[in-house]
This record gives sequence, structure tokens and C-alpha cells, in this order.
Amino acid sequence: MSTERILRVAIDAPVMDAFDYLAPQGPCPQPGQRVLVPFRRGQRVGVVLEVVGESAVPGERLRRVLSTLDPEPLLDDKLLLLLAWAAGYYQHPPGEVCAAALPRLLRQGHHGATGTLVWAITPAGHAALQAGELARAPVQARLLDALAGSDGGLDATALLALASRWRPAMRELERRGLAQRRHVDLGESAGAAMPEALPTPTPAQAEAIAAIDGSSGFQPFLLQGVTGSGKTEVYLRCIATMQAARRQSLVLVPEIGLTPQLLARFRRRFPDAGIVCLHSGLGDLQRLEAWQRARDGRASIIIGTRSAVFVPLPQPGLIVVDEEHDGSFKQQDGFRYSARDIAVWRAHQLGMAVVLGSATPSLESLANVEAGRYRRLRLPERTAGARHPGVQLVDLRRHLVHDGLTQPLIDAIDRHLQDAGQVLIYLNRRGYAPTLMCTGCGQSLECRRCDARMVLHWREARLSCHHCGASRAVPERCATCGGELHAVGQGTERLEAALMRLFPGYPLVRIDRDTTRARGEVERRLEEAASGRARILLGTQMLAKGHDFPDVTLVGIIDADQGLFGTDFRAGERLAQTFVQVAGRAGRAGKPGEVYIQTLFPEHPLLQALIREGYDSFAEAALAERRAAGWPPFSHLAMLRAEAPSRAPALDFLGQARAAGEACGTAGIRLLGPAPAPMERRAGRYRAQLLVEAGNRGRLQRFLAAWRSEVAVLPAAARIRWSLDVDPLELF
Ligand code: ADP
Ligand code: ZN
Repeated sequence: MSTERILRVAIDAPVMDAFDYLAPQGPCPQPGQRVLVPFRRGQRVGVVLEVVGESAVPGERLRRVLSTLDPEPLLDDKLLLLLAWAAGYYQHPPGEVCAAALPRLLRQGHHGATGTLVWAITPAGHAALQAGELARAPVQARLLDALAGSDGGLDATALLALASRWRPAMRELERRGLAQRRHVDLGESAGAAMPEALPTPTPAQAEAIAAIDGSSGFQPFLLQGVTGSGKTEVYLRCIATMQAARRQSLVLVPEIGLTPQLLARFRRRFPDAGIVCLHSGLGDLQRLEAWQRARDGRASIIIGTRSAVFVPLPQPGLIVVDEEHDGSFKQQDGFRYSARDIAVWRAHQLGMAVVLGSATPSLESLANVEAGRYRRLRLPERTAGARHPGVQLVDLRRHLVHDGLTQPLIDAIDRHLQDAGQVLIYLNRRGYAPTLMCTGCGQSLECRRCDARMVLHWREARLSCHHCGASRAVPERCATCGGELHAVGQGTERLEAALMRLFPGYPLVRIDRDTTRARGEVERRLEEAASGRARILLGTQMLAKGHDFPDVTLVGIIDADQGLFGTDFRAGERLAQTFVQVAGRAGRAGKPGEVYIQTLFPEHPLLQALIREGYDSFAEAALAERRAAGWPPFSHLAMLRAEAPSRAPALDFLGQARAAGEACGTAGIRLLGPAPAPMERRAGRYRAQLLVEAGNRGRLQRFLAAWRSEVAVLPAAARIRWSLDVDPLELF
């Protein structure tokens, strides 16, 4: 009779279940500890999820854990439960879900000691240097010399800068006892020591702060206030309360670009607190360090993007999701989770408050307010006497357009610049022109691998596809008829040239993905914009989100129509959010502002509702529309996507999946499709989709659980790429 204990281990592999292993000899690893296990023909790092008495795998096929990597659990029971829930909810392999919660170095089996790994010189090393023993090993000598001159040692990055092949040399130094590795705590970066003068909360802020501070147990709040109304100030106050109670606060932001500004503000407010950032821009060691600080409680404030929602919080107090409506909280590939939704679940699990902040809440969150699940707190007034901007619609049919600009907008820019104002021009399209068209035959240049046009990039003299990244030189003439090619439409690059020609002498900063590829460039350009040095700010979505530009007095929206006629049922919501975010820039800090919107459809009801009555009325109308049409939040969706080198296999697979779904029983479930994706061909692959809709979330969840396992074993499933997206944000 065997009393072997079986470990259920999560391994980063696309398999829907955990893997069973025999416990190693000696102390049995506990749930949350990492183990090294034999896997197929190699070894893998896994996380123990459970210790059980028996396995469905026959005893002779069970393999034994090779070693235990952590002296104690890295992930606590609550976090393991959260991950298990997320794996079930999003129908995603538990091993990949666990992987999303761990910094890369821990996934790779790094021992996870806190501190940064550095190499330092030993006394024997000093002696060797003085004796000139390393004359015949120049790389070793150079490294050791640098270690001798360093303050406590150098990390891998510094060593790499000294010698590209530093590792073998360092190994040799270590072997000879001349250098050794150790872990150092990088310590808090000191931050600006000057404590901020605290503004007195406005009555609305005071009410919001009191409500959040005074709540007990799980309570979601929707903090709704226009940009500049003082939401961040509310977060800061509530976080201060948590600091005093020695509780950790987790602040989720949609983009890395937003973290430096926010971090600086948090450091000013809490000069003595442990504050860490967690985002994809960090190096692996920095990320591990920040994660460890959160896990052992040294960090009491954690600011991060999406994946930070899984950070360990031994003393949790408060979760904030800033700009909760933002689409980047939803991961769009692999493990397709919504960090906002998981944040709410986590707050529920931990029994605490979660604050979702936005000037333009998602319709989901507004419906939750309506249903009484979330409590809404409003910050109606702008602080510091700032006034709301006046809005002008410029009819593109009635005005001549030069390089995308109408005369009324040009005049307005001129006026504001002369009045020492700052001007923000928004166009969510990078490149010079979205289309290069033949004047002879009228054909436009298409990507060879996508159903999409190539975008002209002037300075690089290249055409590039924004969907697959393909790029080629601009041809001299049309390949079909030899006619002349003509750039049609505007991108930010073209607009930049036009604005520089029209307003020479006014510094302009353009912020889009093309101008910010180099490291640190986003920060540098945002700083140029925020400081007022640049007088004309031009950019895409990157510029529109959450940044504070106090001197902007005029906002120009070049093309409102991009959003009006999207194929997606969320297109209107996104347009309204962008509009409010962008228009919200004008007229802060006491200066009156103006907004000019260029459109072909000035009488469009959506634009009219938005402009005349604001986001709330728009949202009310949009929710009524969603209710009538049975779209989310009044129904729940999942999308099965497939892609293959040709159309038929993708559609066949989805057809079989549909039949399998029908066999699972579809009471309360609607299956829509299969159908080709709106942009069918992308990067040479044909994409198709099958939409699942249910009136009830529980029913959808039960259906998906049963259905997914049927889909996974379809013979066609092995031949194509497929994925299941629960609560999809984009329907293509
Ligand atoms: P939001 O997060 O809603 O955009 P912020 O909290 O960043 O708003 O506030 C906008 C500006 O107003 C900031 O410069 C902030 O310091 C200032 N501010 C916020 N609350 C107050 C207040 N009660 N009194 C004076 N200034 C305030
Ligand atoms: Zn392409």
C-alpha cells in the first residue's frame, strides 16, 4: 500500500490540466512552491497547485519531482485560488496562467533571492590585481579592474557594457576565487525629497475619500470625473489612509507611458514609502526585484500595468484601476484576461475596496452602477477654476481641406498660438498617408499578406503594413499600368509637415509609435509637451491618454469619422471615450479652451448627443441601444477564433466546433457563425470566427467548460491555430 503523495503541478504548456508528479524524497513541497520536474525529454519549472493522495495517471507512468526550488511558497493560497479561478473563467491552461503571474526569471527557475545579482571583487582578487597576475587574460583583467573600482560590485548590464563576452571570463574569475557573486538590495531610489503641499480636497473629493475610507469589506467604487477633476488626488488620499494602516495599495494603469508621471507624483507624496513599478519596460532583474518587494511587504505601493494584477499582496488594503475603460487592460493574445475584471474579483476575494476611475466609464461599469453592484462617486467640477471648452463642429463638406486641415481650424490654431496658448492636434493614424493610389488605374497598393492597404511612410520612403509589419520600398510607378502614384489621406507624419509649414517658429512635438521607438523617447516627448516647451502637440491615441498638459487651450480633432462607422458594436463607445479624453485637455488650469472637430457628418446623432449633453447622456443612449440589441453588458460573449493558411480549414474547424457545441446542449446559448473575420487575411493567414452569446454568465461558463474540451479533441483542431476569447473586447 503506497502512501506516496502526488503533486498537482502547473507547467507553462498549452494543456488544460495540471500535471501529476510523485513528491520528491524528503520534505514535501507545498502549494505555491516551485519545483523542477522532468517534462517530456527535458526539465521544466512548475508551481505546485495541490498535494493529493492519488492520481488518475497509472502509478508506473508517474514521474518524480527532481527538486524543490523555493524554501517556502512563493504564491499564497489566495493567489493560487485567484489563478485557478482565472484559468477556469478564461478557459485557459493553468500553467500558462501561473506563468503570467510570475516574473520571467522565476519562471526560468532563478532562485528568487531578493536583491540584484552583482559580482564583486574578493581580497584575493585585489591581491591578484596588484601582483599583475592577469596580464595574459585581458578580459578578466578589465572586469576585475572595474569591480575593484566599483562601489560594492557590478550587475550583468554593467559587465556587458565592459565586455560582450564577459560571462566566461567572469566564470573563470569566480573559479579562481578572485570574484564572487552576491545579491544586493538596490534600495529605494531616493525620489524627490520635497514633500508636496497638500491641496485641500474639494467637497466632492472629500465625499469620495470619506466613502472609500469608510467602506468595509468588498466594495467596488466607480470614481467618475473628467480629466483634471482630481481623481488621482482621491487615490492618493485613500492610499495615505492605507499607508497609515500598514496596508498595501495596488494601482493599475493602462500604459507604461503613464507610469513615470504617476510614479513621480506618488514619490513626492510618499517620500518614505516603498513604491515599486511593474511593467513590461523593466529588465528581468528589476522586475523580479519589484515583485519580491511586493511579496515580502517592503513595497507598500505597487503601480503597474495589466499583469501587475497578479502581484502578491501579503497585506492588501486597496486596489485602484485608473482609466478603467481602457482597452489595454484586456490582453489580446494568449491568456486573454481582463485585468480590470480580475481586479474586481480579487478585491472581492480579499474583502476590500476597489476604485475604478475614469472620465468616461465603460458601459459595463455603468451598467454595474445601475444594477447597484458598484457605487458611483462623482467629481463633477474641475479644480482650480478650469472651465469647460466650447466645441465647434467643422463640416468637411463645406470647407476646403489642405493636408487635412480646414481653414477654420488653421485660423483657430493661429489665434491660440498668438495668444501664447498650446495646441493639441489629434489624429489616430500614424504614417504619412494611409493610401498610395495610382492616378491612372485607381488601384491602391495593398499588402501582399493582408486584406489591407500599405501605409506610406515618407521619411523612410517605405510602404508598411500596420497589420503584419511588412515593409517595402515605394515604387516609382504603378506596377499594373505605369501610372503615377499619389498619396491619399493624412497620417500624423503628413500633418506634421503641414503644421510646420503653416506655423514655422512654433516648436512641435509629434507623439506616435513611429517617433517613440527609441528607449526613453516617450518620456522625453511627453515632458516636452507637458512643460509647455512644445507649442504644438500632435499625436495619436498615445497622446490622448491620461496625460496632464496644463497649457493646452485648443484641441483639434482632425477626423472624427474614423470611429463613427466601425464594424464593432463598441465603436461608438470608443469614439465617445476618445473624444472626451482629447477634448478634456483643453482649457485646464484656468484658461478657457476650444475644441474643433472636423467631420463629414456633423449631424450624426452620436456626435450631437456627446457634444450637447456630454458623456453621461451618450452612455445612457448607448446602453439603451445595447439592451435592445442584446449586446454586452446585457449579454455575455465568447469568441472562438481560427486561422489557417487558406479559408476552408478555418471555416471547417469552426463548423465542426459549432456542431460539437450543439451536441453539448445550447439552452440559453446562441452560436453565431462561423464567418470570415472582418479583415479576413492577415499576415498570410485566413481568419474566421464563431461567436457564442448567452444571456446569463453562469450558463455561458458551464457551456464553455463542456464545449472547450470537445473542441480541443476535434481532429481539425490539431491542424490549425485556434483560441477562445472570453469577454472579447474586439469582435474581429
Ligand atoms: P485627474 O486624476 O482626475 O486627472 P488630478 O488628481 O490629476 O485629476 O488633478 C488635476 C490637477 O488638479 C492636479 O494638478 C492636482 O494637483 C490638482 N488638484 C487636485 N485636487 C485638487 C484640490 N482639491 N485643490 C487644488 N488642486 C487640486
Ligand atoms: Zn500586411
